[in-house]
Amino acid sequence: MPGSVPRIVMKFGGTSVGDIERIKAVAERVKKQKDAGCDVLVVVSAMAGETNKLVGYCDALSDLHDAREYDSIVATGEQVTSGLLAIALQKLGVPARSWAGWQVPIRTDSAHGKASLDTIDGAHLLGCMAEGVVPVVAGFQGVGPDGRVTTLGRGGSDTSAVALAAAIKADRCDIYTDVDGIYTTDPRIVSKARKLEKITYEEMLELASVGAKVLQTRSVGLAMRQGVRVQVLSSFVDGPALVEGKLPGSLVVDEDEIVEKKLVTGIAYSRDEAKLSVRRIPDRPGIAAAIFGPLSEANVNVDMIVQSTGADGTTNMTFTTSKTDLPRAISTLESVRDAVQYEELATDDDVVKISVVGTGMRSHAGVASTMFRTLSERSINIQVISTSEIKVSVLVAAEYAELAVRALHTAYGLDNV
Ligand code: ADP
Ligand code: ASP
Ligand code: MG
Repeated sequence: MPGSVPRIVMKFGGTSVGDIERIKAVAERVKKQKDAGCDVLVVVSAMAGETNKLVGYCDALSDLHDAREYDSIVATGEQVTSGLLAIALQKLGVPARSWAGWQVPIRTDSAHGKASLDTIDGAHLLGCMAEGVVPVVAGFQGVGPDGRVTTLGRGGSDTSAVALAAAIKADRCDIYTDVDGIYTTDPRIVSKARKLEKITYEEMLELASVGAKVLQTRSVGLAMRQGVRVQVLSSFVDGPALVEGKLPGSLVVDEDEIVEKKLVTGIAYSRDEAKLSVRRIPDRPGIAAAIFGPLSEANVNVDMIVQSTGADGTTNMTFTTSKTDLPRAISTLESVRDAVQYEELATDDDVVKISVVGTGMRSHAGVASTMFRTLSERSINIQVISTSEIKVSVLVAAEYAELAVRALHTAYGLDNV
């Protein structure tokens, strides 16, 4: 509404609220935004390392723990931070109150550990804001159909923030983290990575899905569907200004807002990969179904696939899964050995997937060949390849991860010179 007060969601990740000093600094930042005349809703993650610690407790008790209890345990990390930040804000004279997911309520399905958002009733939060009180909502958590606590998967506070921004019709969702924006690749491994002022939802979605963990994949999909403007920025350094019109971070936007179109926008890598090769299978129709059908029934997510046929009437099927799915994939394949009649099953989890992403690929050829040439010049062997409309991915030995990302970053002209 013209003339109305801007409404901003501010989300702070784990390192941004990593200790009491950091929480005080975050409170100052929220106060500044409020003093600049904005209505503010805050979403927080657990303090850095806290979720890992809580997950570790569950694993230490049992490999196959009850996912409902896991959720009630890991959700506590965010509850602590929301209370602490509310106190820090009150100390600065800013009225504030913490909200757990179930109090909002943030409703989800019952897929404990990786629940999907259902509906969010923003009425109570808007009522709180109308009274001048800053709501500090615990990210990552919700409540399932049976009233039990759920969590949204690792990195899920980003998704909480975007969903809350949509629910309260916020003008923007600011994701504060430990880097000052979205870069052409992970700035922690490529010092020449360049900060992007803007990136399309589609490209960010693809980058996140292939390993750029700066935003949780689901949060980007949700922002795209709901038209939420997302900005990624640093909670550690001050940007130029906290005022409209001059944004310090990187914005995720629609394609028509991007002026400078590039062939390749970004490069991501994922170490959470494992390769399986089912070797010397009698080559006949129905093999793919006999292998991938049971894997899908066992809830194993298969990503890249290549089939290579030998001259002797046998064929090899090589594919990748996440490292966590590997044990389940192995036991499933062992159970279908007689039906598939393969001779050997080989696995390797010392691999990394490297992906280049850009909407420019739709209209220009040559991206994949540049990737293959660049890697061959460094003597890096490509084990598996997969492509989509705006992405090319390759699987290589893990030891080459950094070398490959740096070489490709240079080859596509992305280096900050
Ligand atoms: P938070 O705890 O704030 O949610 P995360 O660790 O989940 O933060 O995400 C921020 C990290 O994402 C950065 O520290 C950076 O190493 C990593 N990252 C990976 N790819 C990119 C990219 N393209 N641009 C910026 N950061 C990236
Ligand atoms: N604390 C949760 C995690 O570490 C959620 C988040 O930080 O977004 O995965
Ligand atoms: Mg994160």
